[in-house]
Amino acid sequence: MREIIAPLSKMLADKEISSVELTQKYISAIENDNKKYNAYVSTTFDKALENAKTADEMIAKGESTALTGIPMTLKDNICSDGDLTTCASKILTGFRPYYDATVWSKLKAQGAVMLGKTNMDEFAMGSTSETSVYGAPLNPRNVNHVTGGSSGGGAAAVCANLAPYALGSDTGGSVRQPASFCGIVGLKPTYGAVSRYGLIAYGSSLDQIGVMANSVKDTAVVFDTISGVDPHDQTSVDFDFGNICESLDGVDVKGLKIGIAKEYFEGINPEIKEAIDSAVKFFEDNGAEIIDISLPVLQQALPVYYIIACAEASSNLGRYDGIRYGYRPDNFNDVEEMILKTRTEGFGDEVKRRIMLGTYVLSSGYYDAYYKKACLLRENLIADFDEIFNTCDVLIAPTAPNTAFPLNYKGASPVDMYLSDIATVPINITGVPAISVPIKNDSNELPIGMQIIGKKFSEKTIMQTAYFYEKNADIQVKDFEGGVVL
Ligand code: GLN
Repeated sequence: MREIIAPLSKMLADKEISSVELTQKYISAIENDNKKYNAYVSTTFDKALENAKTADEMIAKGESTALTGIPMTLKDNICSDGDLTTCASKILTGFRPYYDATVWSKLKAQGAVMLGKTNMDEFAMGSTSETSVYGAPLNPRNVNHVTGGSSGGGAAAVCANLAPYALGSDTGGSVRQPASFCGIVGLKPTYGAVSRYGLIAYGSSLDQIGVMANSVKDTAVVFDTISGVDPHDQTSVDFDFGNICESLDGVDVKGLKIGIAKEYFEGINPEIKEAIDSAVKFFEDNGAEIIDISLPVLQQALPVYYIIACAEASSNLGRYDGIRYGYRPDNFNDVEEMILKTRTEGFGDEVKRRIMLGTYVLSSGYYDAYYKKACLLRENLIADFDEIFNTCDVLIAPTAPNTAFPLNYKGASPVDMYLSDIATVPINITGVPAISVPIKNDSNELPIGMQIIGKKFSEKTIMQTAYFYEKNADIQVKDFEGGVVL
């Protein structure tokens, strides 16, 4: 997969192009192509050009770092001061936060250039991005298929070269699964590795901001910049990752212990199984040790996730009452009716379904049977993952049991769609990091992603493993032609 950030940074340093010129190229590409993919839901071009001017000054003064002058995007649930941030929901119509998320303040301080906000499932609840109030983004690999979700707009923007990289959020797979559907790289960091300050909450014990980019190196350089402890987020952790981007070259996989859990392959598309099997064989041929393991508790991950995520969502989304943020209906007789109408008209069906499920599992009489039990099972999953990482350095698994769905595919019931999250949710439940890398296309030319999972704070190991694969394996997912290619 092609690296974009370092070559662009070199062009900027060599004065082959200025950041303002580079930004203008991305703006023109978005103006031409966004209607094809519906990746951006709002653009911040004036701000981008201001950011670019600042970046050019930093470059002229010799103050630039790896991301100075490079454009990027934020998912529509990551706050930036004064810019529309709507979670692709009617209820946040017109909402402009008055502060920057920590990830964006860190990037801005390095001279990053923000092009706009990208499309997503409403409040990040979904696996196709089709619940967006702006309509679904389309997969640049095949516009009759979804991008995946919920960070589908960011994945489409990166895939179609409408942004060098994008920040998304991953509560149960929302960075990795769209990355896999669009044939790009997606990283879900360890819970606590990246500040969540300014990320609009869905399931707070599961949410993490992650990176989508065209290559592992591009992903690493962004992670290096946004990770770290933040006084505004009590769950962020002070961990020294070192410079992961610089650690990637020259590492091999000899002696790397790779765990393969058979439960991860039950019921998945045989083409995906075959693709992962051949990737595992590649690692084995290069000296890795393959360890077969069993993770029966994986079967419980999906109900545990949907109980905990909905419970937390029902509490987090209680704040949308029409008083403080966004949408408020025109006619109402009293405050109660105003709140009722705001929520009835402002939330979409999937969000309402989850608020109801979450309220149900938290209500007295059901709390012990559902929520408490899910929390206990979560502890089992954490313990089982800990044990696996006593013997394995990484786990390899598919990112999703399927490739990109056709548009409007609904399955037999909402549960059908929830089932497609089976491979990604255990990672959020246990808080460990995972990266999805493209490995192959299926027979419909749709990309297949492989997940490399590690123990907490092992971002370096999983990115080194992913980088080795990207550099040396025969990846059959082609770089996308179109957008900005320099
Ligand atoms: N598809 C999962 C869900 O609908 C994950 C979403 C996410 O990671 N934000 O909850």
